[in-house]
Amino acid sequence: MPLGDLKARLCDEVDRRAEAIRGVSRQLHAHPELGFAESFAHDVLASTLEADGLAVSRSAFGLDTAFAAEAGERGATVAVVCEYDALPGIGHACGHNVIAAAGIGAGLAAAALASEAGGRVRILGTPAEEGGGGKVFMLEAGAFDGCDAALMVHPAQADLLRMDGIAVRQVVARYRGAAAHAAAAPHEGRNALDGAVLGYLNVAALRQHIRGDERIHGVFTDGGGKPNIVPASAATHWYVRAADLRRLDDLGERVAACLGAGATAAGCEVDLEWLEPAFADLVSNPVLETLYADNARALGRDPLEPTPELRVTGSTDMGNVSHVVPSIHPMIAVSPPGVVIHTPEFATFAGGDEGDRAAIDGAKALAMTVADLWIVDGTVEEVRRAFTGAG
Ligand SMILES: [Zn+2]
Ligand SMILES: [Zn+2]
Repeated sequence: MPLGDLKARLCDEVDRRAEAIRGVSRQLHAHPELGFAESFAHDVLASTLEADGLAVSRSAFGLDTAFAAEAGERGATVAVVCEYDALPGIGHACGHNVIAAAGIGAGLAAAALASEAGGRVRILGTPAEEGGGGKVFMLEAGAFDGCDAALMVHPAQADLLRMDGIAVRQVVARYRGAAAHAAAAPHEGRNALDGAVLGYLNVAALRQHIRGDERIHGVFTDGGGKPNIVPASAATHWYVRAADLRRLDDLGERVAACLGAGATAAGCEVDLEWLEPAFADLVSNPVLETLYADNARALGRDPLEPTPELRVTGSTDMGNVSHVVPSIHPMIAVSPPGVVIHTPEFATFAGGDEGDRAAIDGAKALAMTVADLWIVDGTVEEVRRAFTGAG
């Protein structure tokens, strides 16, 4: 089948399912769930695939809210990745409802033509991107084995070729002091909250002397119980981010020293718990990027090279996938410039007409990229060469 014909037919398949794709996006948006607890989204998405005749592995790869479905018997295998977790308090402010809808749309369109076109598509439902790292567990369990490429699209305030995905590791610092009556015997207390506050301030000083692409941000999760009791416990929770895992190790040591010094000053103990998994930096495959961008342009979108003024810096478990399978994580415009992800305003756009349009366009652009990989001779090899080059 000529490439142009296949792409046109894939877009028709998306259009035929437009109502279902928009419905998925709206339903998930109206019912936000946190990572690893996305049972509603899991059921909606799995049922949508099954209604189209696909066999779905529910609760796949050892995760209750992961799923997988595959179509096609031969040829290149392309994974289409769906995310669907939300954020505490602000719902789908990262727009993962749009990621899921676009992924389901692309996956269903590709599945409809896989046998005829001579390719395979694997639709993966990957829970808990916001810190939980569902993809890392799925990667270890073999979800991406045999894939020639992994594709997804993420909503943002602009159409961009990629996210600037940096590595991240989380650490929880738990301070232990000694309780005492804060007025009657303050000298007998060892103030764990002081330890945590001083640790926080040490990190604030450290920030002046780190690289421009490094980020450290923390919140207090325990600050004691009552003012007249010297706090015997306190805790902070941190995200530490750097360009890659090696840089992250170096930065992590400096952060640990800051947090520990706070405890020393306050005469307290501190335990640092580094949470697993760490997220690796995102290696965006340049060949896949170009294919996606050309397909998006055919739909009237124009994914741009990120600039310092217009970029999305963050971390994603897709980074870990991108070190094993050639991957892309382009951004698709849902909100106007200035309305950024993780804000209530962005959540409104993700659940509105702009979110619907991004879901449909994202589904088509991803499906057409699947077509490039399936039937253009040498494309998979070219992607693989660029992947090796990226290391
Ligand atoms: Zn997010
Ligand atoms: Zn996100």
